[in-house]
Amino acid sequence: MIIVLKPNSTEEDAKTLLSKIEQSGLKPLYMPGVERIVLGALGDERKLASLQLGAHPCVESVKPILTSYKQVSREMQSHDSQVTFGKTTIGGGTFTIIAGPCAIENEEQIDKSAAIVKKHGGLGLRGGAFKPRSSPYSFQGLEEQGLILMQQASKKYGLPCVTEVIDASHVDMMCKYIDAFQIGARNMQNFRLLKAVGRSNKPVILKRGMSATIEELLLAAEYIYNEGNKDIVICERGIRTFEKATRNTLDLGAVAFIKNRSHLPVIVDPSHGTGIRELVSPMARAAAACGADGIIVEVHYDPKIALSDGMQSLDEADFEKMMRGLRPFISAAGKVVA
Ligand code: PEP
Ligand code: MN
Repeated sequence: MIIVLKPNSTEEDAKTLLSKIEQSGLKPLYMPGVERIVLGALGDERKLASLQLGAHPCVESVKPILTSYKQVSREMQSHDSQVTFGKTTIGGGTFTIIAGPCAIENEEQIDKSAAIVKKHGGLGLRGGAFKPRSSPYSFQGLEEQGLILMQQASKKYGLPCVTEVIDASHVDMMCKYIDAFQIGARNMQNFRLLKAVGRSNKPVILKRGMSATIEELLLAAEYIYNEGNKDIVICERGIRTFEKATRNTLDLGAVAFIKNRSHLPVIVDPSHGTGIRELVSPMARAAAACGADGIIVEVHYDPKIALSDGMQSLDEADFEKMMRGLRPFISAAGKVVA
């Protein structure tokens, strides 16, 4: 429920109402605006009705939030959220390019790959240290040693880094090394993990589960937001459909939909979204054209020796070409590279 207070209401009036909301077992939200104080009350709708907030002399209007996700919805906040990632800002008119290998493999590999990202205008570094692989026999990642190597490259090239977290018990340890968490597709509905990163003070890139609806994706974001972490970036990375020609079906309609219904920034992963190197660049351009706030792409200095996802990784020449082709689309969408 959104409660808009009358123009002359004071902070004291807001406090009185907020404590009423809290006493009835609902979650109170305080959102002071330029013209009006807006309050929120989250929880059981019946409890809300019994409060009869509409009858209070300070209250101008009470309106329900119609979506199941509340705090991440545009109904709750009409302006775009901006998420600080290192020295860059994701959302609110910028287009952020994050790139790097699927997995951190060794010092030379992460260093050379990061150098490529930096040289051609990437703003952030990606790389997995804990890899959630479909097969237990595939490379599982270097774990904490990988984080050390990633932090080294991140500092050397001045690129903030993002890496996937797969276990709630790793959150505190990982915070020492990284600038943002990635929640992978396979963990989008790992609610304890969502709550754990929701209690951390690092931004979270939340990837869409491979068979998750948009509503489930936004409810996963709501889990993180509800723990107090507002720095969430949604990532469309393709879903499983009947189509087998591509690894996943990149749902760019979801990008436009989420931008319309939620205030959170949205980025696109054209690497996992297609699984095919040649399709990464066109889908990156399409991402910019449909209103995404950035992309996260896989880049490896030598994809043919990559320990994971080599088929969809770009080498230096491919990445340089992608960046060149992408810039006019970013400008046409009214965004600036940041
Ligand atoms: C990855 O980013 O390497 C990854 C495993 O992504 P996803 O969770 O989208 O499959
Ligand atoms: Mn990958």
